[in-house]
This record gives sequence, C-alpha cells and structure tokens, in this order.
Amino acid sequence: MPISIPTHERGEWPSSYGSDMDTFTRSERSRIMRAVRSTGTEPENKCEALLRTLKLKFSQHPPNLAGRPDFVLRKYRLAIFVHGCFWHAHRECQHSALPTSNTEYWAKKIAGNRRRDRRVRDELRKDGWRTAVIWECRLRKPNSVARRLLRLTSWEKLR
Ligand SMILES: [Zn+2]
Repeated sequence: MPISIPTHERGEWPSSYGSDMDTFTRSERSRIMRAVRSTGTEPENKCEALLRTLKLKFSQHPPNLAGRPDFVLRKYRLAIFVHGCFWHAHRECQHSALPTSNTEYWAKKIAGNRRRDRRVRDELRKDGWRTAVIWECRLRKPNSVARRLLRLTSWEKLR
C-alpha cells in the first residue's frame, strides 16, 4: 500500500551506524549504503534496494495474496510489509505520535489500519506464510535491516 512519509523523515541519515557496522565487511557495508541512498527516500524503495543488494528474489504486491504484501519471497514463504510508523502505530516510536488536532479521527483511522494488519497477517499465516514487518524508522539503519533480512532468509525452506 502507498505510504506517505512525514517530511521530517525525508533525506535524513544519521552519520554513525554504531554496532550495525559489525556484521558486514567494509565493502558490503558501502554497497548497502550506496544501494539504499541511490533510490530516494520512500521506505519501500529503501527496502527494495536492500533486497536487491542482498540478491534476494522477490515480487511486489502480488494480487493473489491477502493484503498484497509489499514484498513476497516465495522461496522462503516470507511476506514482508514495510510499515509507516505513523500509519500503523509503531509502538514506542516517536514517529507514531498522533497529531494534537483531530486526534480522535486519526486514532480511529490508525486503529482500523492495525485491525486490518492483524487480519491480513492471520490470513497469511493460515496459508503457511511467514510475515515480517519492516518499520519505516528502522530503515534509517539499513545495515540492521539487511541483517534481519539475512536472518529471515538464512534457511532454504521453512515448513
Ligand atoms: Zn518507528
């Protein structure tokens, strides 16, 4: 689903990535950083760049799957959703704070999103899919997301 990004999220990259640097060699790291930077700022594009860099095969928004996940890695029976922190109420995340005006409207809308997220996840799991959520704010540390993607795909088949 299309995600609109709050403006404060655009184009901001922390200068240091701390312990995220550990898992990758220097050249892998810079490859990941380059891939992510070169695709603009949409969280979904960032995630796509990571999947490509890690050479993981995926399809996007397959119409035949519940919730049309942002990325589907069939080989790993893995459905990935890239969620905006605000729209899907990322817990304990500063980017999920509700606006101070029309609060009730937003609270309702976002509660509806979360209900739908749960329903979609349950449906996919029933059909034997694993699901993962990549939060928008996490993509500011692409190395840690890359590590997570590798963990999620470190086995040939699940079931
Ligand atoms: Zn967040």
